[in-house]
Amino acid sequence: MRLILASNNKNKLREFKQLVEGMDIELLSQSEAGLHLDVEETGTTFEENARLKADAFSKLCGLPCLADDSGLCVDALGGRPGVYSARYAPNRDFDKGMEMLLGELAAAADKARKAHFSCVLAFAFPGMETKVFEGRVDGRIATEKHGNGGFGYDPVFVPDEGDGRSFGEFGKEEKNAISHRGRAFKKFLDYLNHLNN
Ligand code: IMP
Repeated sequence: MRLILASNNKNKLREFKQLVEGMDIELLSQSEAGLHLDVEETGTTFEENARLKADAFSKLCGLPCLADDSGLCVDALGGRPGVYSARYAPNRDFDKGMEMLLGELAAAADKARKAHFSCVLAFAFPGMETKVFEGRVDGRIATEKHGNGGFGYDPVFVPDEGDGRSFGEFGKEEKNAISHRGRAFKKFLDYLNHLNN
């Protein structure tokens, strides 16, 4: 199956390509598929934005399209930056974004540092109803950056299910096994398997 990922985010693409390794799915980014469309993320929820992107791309190319909208939600900040996670970092400079986040939380007690990553995947196929799949990983925001693996806010996010290391210190497979994106993708694969059986 050939699947277009409605994104040019090379970090997300890398993680998705790892997730489909060994499967009968060829995943292409919009640029790899020769598609040029800039979809404005005007939604106020992950689901709205994921649907906007997947629907626009499947309409454009008539192929199955998958779109991801994801972000970091911090309890002490009322869920911010949330859907605005990419835009929170000035000029998408996530080192600066993490410094700003750590600054906003400087006075926060340990309990208030609770946070989660959310991911909503939307799968659009012309003639079919668009389906959405959600994944989430709970954790907390560290007091400083640890590691330089992953991308975005990974060095300041410590998942509850781990051993105290940040996502920035996780290996790729380790992260995919519990991440919001890995979990949403697993639900999507279960759906595809269900369609084929
Ligand atoms: P968007 O889905 O393209 O709007 O961007 C989501 C933003 O959330 C990314 O640019 C990252 O800053 C952040 N984000 C989403 N998933 C992850 C992740 O797995 N690790 C670190 N940051 C993430």
